[in-house]
Amino acid sequence: MGYMVSSCPHCGSQNRESCNAWGYGSPIRQCKSCKAEYFDNRWREVAVDGFDPRSNNSKLYLFAGIGSGALSAVMGLWVWNSIRTSGSYSIRAAGLAVLAALVCVMCLVMFVRIKSGYEEKAQAPFLEESRQRLQDPVYVRKLMQYGVRVPQEFQPKDEG
Ligand SMILES: [Zn+2]
Repeated sequence: MGYMVSSCPHCGSQNRESCNAWGYGSPIRQCKSCKAEYFDNRWREVAVDGFDPRSNNSKLYLFAGIGSGALSAVMGLWVWNSIRTSGSYSIRAAGLAVLAALVCVMCLVMFVRIKSGYEEKAQAPFLEESRQRLQDPVYVRKLMQYGVRVPQEFQPKDEG
């Protein structure tokens, strides 16, 4: 659904990686060119950071959906009115009406997905993967060295 581009601090090459819309995954990335690891805090280790609050905020999508729907209706009416009165219309206004309608539909789909619990189910595998990564004490120590506040439950036991 999206991708993340970062430049490797070791060799400077650009790494483009696909990810979901919220960047769920390990913030410790491996460079595709030089294989060195580096830290990229745009990735969310969901067992530590939690899911992005926007991803479960149904109100946000409802309001955005209503707003874009209203904008689409206004622009649509305006286009319709100018066709009726002058026989021509602004391509930009028509484009905006269509775009706003698409945004409206996307927001309402997200709203329904969140409300129905579908979104939570879709996110569960990311949490599971994240928990799996945190089972590895070497990995957890690395995260902590990068300054990530790893919850007590995931911290290696032998470090007091
Ligand atoms: Zn590199």
